[in-house]
Amino acid sequence: MKCDLHIHSCLSPCADLTMVPNEVVKYSPEIIAICDHNSGGNVLPFLKVFEKHGKILIPGIEIQSFEDVHILGYFKNFNDLITVSKIVAEHLPKINYDPEKFGYQVYVNENDEFVSMENLPLGFPTDFSIQEIIDLILDHSGLPAYAHIGRKFGVLYQLGIFPQTQVRIAEVTNKEEYSTAKKNGFITIASSDAHFLNQIGERYSIIEKEIKNVEDFLNLLYSGKVKTIWDF
Ligand SMILES: [Zn+2]
Ligand SMILES: [Zn+2]
Repeated sequence: MKCDLHIHSCLSPCADLTMVPNEVVKYSPEIIAICDHNSGGNVLPFLKVFEKHGKILIPGIEIQSFEDVHILGYFKNFNDLITVSKIVAEHLPKINYDPEKFGYQVYVNENDEFVSMENLPLGFPTDFSIQEIIDLILDHSGLPAYAHIGRKFGVLYQLGIFPQTQVRIAEVTNKEEYSTAKKNGFITIASSDAHFLNQIGERYSIIEKEIKNVEDFLNLLYSGKVKTIWDF
């Protein structure tokens, strides 16, 4: 089974407005995660639509630290994601958000209708450190992962090293990043980080077992049984 564990919805200011549930599901492999910038607020309609299509949706988020490092969090319980999302909202800068300048942040329902707009600056860093974000995710039974380690806002790109933390999973975008992550003892995943429909599945991970639900998938991920093309 193919999985793409890093996809943005139209709630992310940099994502296309076509990133709505019934469009995303058409382009998606069997398993995906929605990981919007600093929010889990659009995950529920995606959960409903993916369930209807017999595909698995992992509730996720991509949180930005004050060091400008992106950290992904995956949750087996949707409510844990929402709790984390509400805490993150309190740690974003209080500015007057101009969607014309920074991008539209749109909430949708399961019929792809736009219901409201977010006024918090989701594309900005929180005032949390890397360690605080990791603790926040772990405290809510989530699984943290370093996003796109070698690209801008990736931990290696920003810091030049992997800090000593509890994170065991690294998202890689090429063979070089894969080798570096492996050498440092990480479980690796590959994902598209899609902001547009045609990017979904551009990079993906693979599991060799049929799974039925989010919990099974996260157990496989945690035990290192999710592979990338560079593992073969
Ligand atoms: Zn990112
Ligand atoms: Zn992203």
